[in-house]
This record gives sequence, structure tokens and C-alpha cells, in this order.
Amino acid sequence: MAWYPGAKKMELQPESDSQPAIRPTQFILHSIVAPWTPERTYEYWRDSTNLESHFGLGYDGSLGQFIGTHTRADANAAANRRADGTGAVSLESASNLAASDPWTAEQVETLIELGVWLHEEEGIPLRICRTADDPGFGYHRQFTAWNPSAHSCPGDARVKQFKEVVFPGIVARATGQTPEEDDVALTTEDIKKIAAASAAATLGLDGKITIPGAPTTNPTYTLASTQTEILKRIDAVRTAEAAQTAAITKLAALVGTGVDTAAVVAAVKVAIAEAVVKVHVDVTGQES
Ligand SMILES: [Zn+2]
Repeated sequence: MAWYPGAKKMELQPESDSQPAIRPTQFILHSIVAPWTPERTYEYWRDSTNLESHFGLGYDGSLGQFIGTHTRADANAAANRRADGTGAVSLESASNLAASDPWTAEQVETLIELGVWLHEEEGIPLRICRTADDPGFGYHRQFTAWNPSAHSCPGDARVKQFKEVVFPGIVARATGQTPEEDDVALTTEDIKKIAAASAAATLGLDGKITIPGAPTTNPTYTLASTQTEILKRIDAVRTAEAAQTAAITKLAALVGTGVDTAAVVAAVKVAIAEAVVKVHVDVTGQES
């Protein structure tokens, strides 16, 4: 018998000792049509029926184990134990009273973890059962031999999740891959497109900026050096603007005063020089 370390052990007697051994080759998922914790599921198996599953899964992802995985549990009819001694590991999961809701994210995570463990510890192969006796992973209504009374268990939403999320998740984690990585695998054509897009971009992912018309000896600059260059050019513009303003102001003041041209030029030069010095003090905090 084997007990999953990720589950709370709640051993069910007398079944745990009295029921025959199995060699587990399948993992079959169920919904219990009640919003039960593993503890409540254990009590139900113990007090109200002689059926039972190996595992019980709560909405919050909590897991209980009632029967060792090398002992028969009675949740899936003919798959419980076959004449050759093989059998299915079964899990009941909390659901609404119509078994119509999907598994929660926490339930999905626990199912994936347990599925990986059953693959690694019990050798259950990473495939969906192809026949009722075929080793692998499945859900209760998948085969009539497992479900002779034709329950819809585990419900449409969970069958869809089993196929699209839970089983692929088990495979991905057991093999060290994720489906997402496969999805984004790049072709050579994709890489060429990305390279072309990067070459056209002004700001590269490496923080270098391509400046049109820059000397070929230094065609790119880092973001920091480009910002410094921009600030220098702003300073130069401000200096020129201050000089022009000073010149215009001085000229306006001299209009109609009768001073000669040489005196006007000298006065404007002084005004410009004073204005430029003032700009440099404002911008750099020191005269230059
Ligand atoms: Zn079922």
C-alpha cells in the first residue's frame, strides 16, 4: 500500500485491511456531487456506504487519502480491480450539488501534483486511457465499464478541464515542460521578423539609441549619454535665446537716443555677455 505524502492520511477501516491488493494502472477522477471537505468525505465513506474512493479533494485543494493505492477502492465498478490484479486509483472531488461547476484553481493544482506522483511512483503512463482496461488517466463517465449506471460524473465542465488543463498539466510537469513553451517556439522566419523590427526601432532593447545622421564611428549612444546630449543642446538654445533677448532689449532702449553705431554695438555686446553668463549660472550653477 502506498500513501501520497501530499494528502492527509485518514485510513478507512475495515476496507483498508480487508479489501484485496491491486497493482494501480489507472487514475480516474470523479465529482462527489457535494461541496465536501476531505474530512466530510471520509465520514461519508465510513458511516453511510460501503463504497469509497482512494482520495477526497476539497474545494481549497486540500487532499485526504482513505485507502492505500495498492488496495482496491470501490468507486469505478469494473476498474476497481480486474482479474489480472490491476486496478484504478480513484479520486472524489468537492463539487456543487449538480456536479456542474468546474474545478477550482486549487483543485486543479492538487490534481496535477497527485497525477505527477502517480506517474512517478506507480508508473501510470502519461496518456488518456484508450479503452476501459488501458493504463493511463481518465474520468468516471469515460467508459461504461467504469460507470454502468451512466452518471455524468465528473460533469461537462470538469471533463473539459481534464482534457484541456489537468491532463496536459500532468504531462507538462512530469516531463519538465510546459505547453506554453511549445506554443511560443520560434521559427527562423519569426526570428528574422523580430530582428528586422529591432533594427528599425530607435530605442533598442539593449538601451542603445540609433541616431539618424550620427557619425559612423559612433552610430549609437546609450540612453544616458543621449539624455546628456539633449540637455547640452537645450542649454545652448537657452543661451542663444538669452543673448538675443538682451540684444533686442538694449537696442530698444537705444532707439531715438542719438548714440552712434559703434556705441550701440559696444552696448549690445556687453548686454549679450552679461546675459550669457547669467544663463550659464542658472543652468550649471557655476560660471563658464
Ligand atoms: Zn464518479
